[in-house]
Amino acid sequence: MKIFYTDTFPIPLPENHNFPKEKYYLLRVRISERLSDQLIDLQIPEPASSEAILRAHDAEYIRRLFEGDLTDKEIRRVGLPWSPQIVERTRYSVGATIAACRAAFSDRVAVNLGGGTHHAFHDHGKGFCWLNDSVIAARAMQAEGLAENILIVDCDVHQGDGTAAIARDDPTIFTFSIHGKNNFPYNKETSDLDIELEDGTDDKTYLDALEKGLIESTQRFNADLVIYLAGTDPYRKDRYGRLALTKAGLAQRDHLVLKHVKESKLPVAVAMAGGYAPEIQDIVDIHHQTIETTLEFQGETIDQKD
Ligand SMILES: [Zn+2]
Repeated sequence: MKIFYTDTFPIPLPENHNFPKEKYYLLRVRISERLSDQLIDLQIPEPASSEAILRAHDAEYIRRLFEGDLTDKEIRRVGLPWSPQIVERTRYSVGATIAACRAAFSDRVAVNLGGGTHHAFHDHGKGFCWLNDSVIAARAMQAEGLAENILIVDCDVHQGDGTAAIARDDPTIFTFSIHGKNNFPYNKETSDLDIELEDGTDDKTYLDALEKGLIESTQRFNADLVIYLAGTDPYRKDRYGRLALTKAGLAQRDHLVLKHVKESKLPVAVAMAGGYAPEIQDIVDIHHQTIETTLEFQGETIDQKD
């Protein structure tokens, strides 16, 4: 299974910043220590091209992002300091989702060890997200002729508001977001399908709701590809999430999504999205179990769809 990583490109942050950037490196190390080389193929992707990025974003926003010409207010809204390095890292991270989508067509499953930056809008960034990798990757697959219709299954605890807004009038991208009702963003956008969950939602309630959402998504939309955002922040100890899933529940979540995707005979690219548990090893544990679960679904050929 191809696994794309970008943690070798630094994210310069002041000390004690609340973004847990170490998780990316720790996850890659955990994967390379615990999983056999015969199962995994770790690769650094190509960075996303400007052409690809501009399929989802406003040209003037991208110019100002690349040239360091954003206002203080725009940078504060993202919550990460701007630097040339962070722009480079972001382009590689988007490239990793594009590469994972492409690989999914030959291998059925593929992974980006980052990505899932779903709060990025057409003309601004927000909530640790500068560029919307899911929409950029979806449109890259369309431009390459690999897919016409892409289903985005967003299981990060925060609504995929940027994704919903960019794809709102795009009938070729179906956005399904299952998230905490009282979590950021406080002004929600309208996805094609939103499932909002109460504070303290447990494993069973979550999994029942997710299953219904998956069934509805594939009934309403005839996808060629799924992009799955496997955020760890529905975890009960997450600092920013308000749900109460256990690690076992999150493993069942991954299994449920991947099983449904397999039964629908669809390739899937998995992106990690957010996670803010106070113990960084908890974040790494949950992402790692997503990788292990994804591995169970690799390599089986997809029958031709009717
Ligand atoms: Zn999140």
